[in-house]
Amino acid sequence: MHDIARLSRGPRRDVGVSFEFFPPKTAEMETALWEAIERLAPLQPNFVSVTYGAGGSTRERTHATVARIVRETNIRPAAHLTCVAASRGEIDDVVRAYWDAGVRHIVALRGDPSGGLGSAYQAHPGGYATSTDLVRAIRGIGDFEVSVSAYPERHPESASFEQDIDALKAKIDAGATRAITQFFFENDLYFRYLDRVRKAGVTIPIVPGIVAVQNFKQTAGFAKKTGASVPQWLADRFEGLEDDPATRRLIAAAVAAEQALDLMDRGVTDFHFYTMNRADLVYATCHLLGVRAKAAAQA
Ligand code: FAD
Repeated sequence: MHDIARLSRGPRRDVGVSFEFFPPKTAEMETALWEAIERLAPLQPNFVSVTYGAGGSTRERTHATVARIVRETNIRPAAHLTCVAASRGEIDDVVRAYWDAGVRHIVALRGDPSGGLGSAYQAHPGGYATSTDLVRAIRGIGDFEVSVSAYPERHPESASFEQDIDALKAKIDAGATRAITQFFFENDLYFRYLDRVRKAGVTIPIVPGIVAVQNFKQTAGFAKKTGASVPQWLADRFEGLEDDPATRRLIAAAVAAEQALDLMDRGVTDFHFYTMNRADLVYATCHLLGVRAKAAAQA
């Protein structure tokens, strides 16, 4: 049963948020991205991260976006980086370029197989074979903060939770200081996973990744590939709204708010939002969590 009174809670200074964006492909997308960043910046996120396209396809765009965040905002950026399709030397150069641009936080990932999700991963012959190797290399280049991925429903390539958690532990031993989870819709999955990793001796923050479902069909398709389950109740909520984007957005806002508030009620204080480069749903969810724009928070 949900406690409706919690919806009227006021500002909370102990809640931290971070926002994930993807690098824009066109001038219009660039404008939309910067509108989203400007809207969300007053919430003073712990950091904003910029993804790295499959196969390293966005290397320059990721770098340009992160560099612009450094130049034009006071927000701390985090650059995603993967091991895919690049030699160690090339990756080391990217890391050094980030350091020189003033970036001090990298989200280090293995990346998806070049043949697409579901095909076997093949490391670049001269590249880093695992995310663990990448984390170690980044830490060797500079005193970066390094975040890594975590999978409440385990990574689809992991044979078991034990193997999955061992992989997480290897990344931490190599120098990772925070894990951000794949998105999930059932909060119990997150808490069960958190139990498992804490029992395994993991002490770094495991920050839940939250996605506001703007397009149910697309999210469900993506979830299937990444091993995240989509509960029937979620499908039911979007049923029949295929041609009704306005109502879909209201439902999406309600779903994200419900999930985030439940996490908060159960003790979570740090949240990572997959923004899809759109601010409004995320802004509203943060507001419900008690996160206020700086000027309002000081009033
Ligand atoms: P890893 O932690 O490397 O694990 C992958 C598999 O390898 C697992 O089966 C694991 O058990 C195994 N493994 C890991 N380490 C070892 C080891 N030391 N020894 C043996 N086995 C090991 N993809 C992008 O292309 N660009 C992005 O910007 C991006 N951002 C992401 C952000 C978040 C928060 C998350 C959760 C995912 C992101 N991804 C991104 C997706 C990610 O690249 C894929 O899920 C990919 O398939 C796995 O990379 P990983 O670093 O998450 O997994």
